[in-house]
Amino acid sequence: MTPSTDLNIPLFERAKALIPGGVNSPVRAFKAVGGTPRFVKRAQGAYFWDANDQRFIDYIGSWGPMILGHGHPAVLEAVQKAALEGFSFGAPTEREVELAEEILSLVPSMEMIRLVSSGTEAGMSAIRLARGATGRSKFIKFEGCYHGHADSLLVKAGSGLATFGNATSAGVPPEVVQHTIVLEYNNIPQLEEAFALHGRELACVMIEPIAGNMNLVRASVPFMKRCRELCTEYGALLVLDEVMTGFRVALGSAQSVYAKSIPGFQPDLTVLGKVIGGGMPLAAFGGPRAIMEHLAPLGGVYQAGTLSGNPVATACGLATLREIQKPDFFDALSARTRSLVDGLQAAADAEGVPFCGDCEGGMFGFFLLPELPQNYAQVLKTDSARFNQLFHGLLDRGIYIAPALYEAGFVSAAHTADDVAATVTAAREVFKTLS
Ligand code: PLP
Repeated sequence: MTPSTDLNIPLFERAKALIPGGVNSPVRAFKAVGGTPRFVKRAQGAYFWDANDQRFIDYIGSWGPMILGHGHPAVLEAVQKAALEGFSFGAPTEREVELAEEILSLVPSMEMIRLVSSGTEAGMSAIRLARGATGRSKFIKFEGCYHGHADSLLVKAGSGLATFGNATSAGVPPEVVQHTIVLEYNNIPQLEEAFALHGRELACVMIEPIAGNMNLVRASVPFMKRCRELCTEYGALLVLDEVMTGFRVALGSAQSVYAKSIPGFQPDLTVLGKVIGGGMPLAAFGGPRAIMEHLAPLGGVYQAGTLSGNPVATACGLATLREIQKPDFFDALSARTRSLVDGLQAAADAEGVPFCGDCEGGMFGFFLLPELPQNYAQVLKTDSARFNQLFHGLLDRGIYIAPALYEAGFVSAAHTADDVAATVTAAREVFKTLS
């Protein structure tokens, strides 16, 4: 394909004239890796086709929601039926109740749930609820974790230990982030120090349990245990942001993975998105009745949405959640994802490229580093020029991974052993050029 025949290029030019950066969400612009984004025409199963009708094996899956792959027949049928019945009513529907029942039956830490339209909205609302329920203002988040683009969450670490953060975005006044404390992920002494300093003023600790926004870095079991213990001791709420990990890493989400190592482990609030909408705008937050009843119209914490619990989105989410409960679904998905990570590791080893990877359920990450990082600063040690070479080498071979080294990848139930083998073969060719 030459630049003169690549139909993505004129599309990107048209888009850039009209939409900032040519995209409606920044990472899509390929700014980190360079080059022209692929404009997607259609998708089916594990693949999408771009403006040139070139096929790609899709390891992004809309950044996580497409756990069944694209165009799953049962989901399509449910969406088509729901659309015929009406797009949006702004009034309650039975399907919202069914979706609530389905989610609560799978995640026992939640007794009540509220549906919203995006992960950002869900995370922002969970923070407001935590503040309203505890009567406290401060909260802790961790560097490298992303919880959506609400003002108080767009914060990077300050310079000293347990300092309050600085906004990472223009347009966020310092007063808005003055209550956000940013700590290093997986750093227990720093967490303990922050609690010693501010514990009784903390509304919550918000954490991605298996962080997917600094590639893939999991909270260690001792760290998660300490988060839970300290929150309980000081009366702060533990908020797990499972927008990415929810129904993606296990049927019971990441909290069920930690509960295997930490007996009785449960968060106070859970934030969900992505898979629960199956590719439609749907997210949620939930927790114990006593906390959730602080929400309007029962309590004084206000939260609302014109499209919340949208009937077409709930149909899509429900159909998706029913598919992933079929026998062996997660065993098969985990095995496929593991085979990808192991295959990439073997290919990198064969070519002498430093590499390490990790995965849980249908979520994976890898680094061009000899050891798995434990926090954001360690992730930053990746050589981004080499990552960009890998990204473009794979793209040229029809393999689509995230166009930034800070993002996790996703395998769907539609990815076959042949897709994985083709990916590993392509990766080995590219690794050869790196070494
Ligand atoms: N939380 C996490 C862990 C996420 O990965 C994301 C998005 O990628 C969000 C929150 C924000 O979700 P949304 O993009 O739907 O607003």
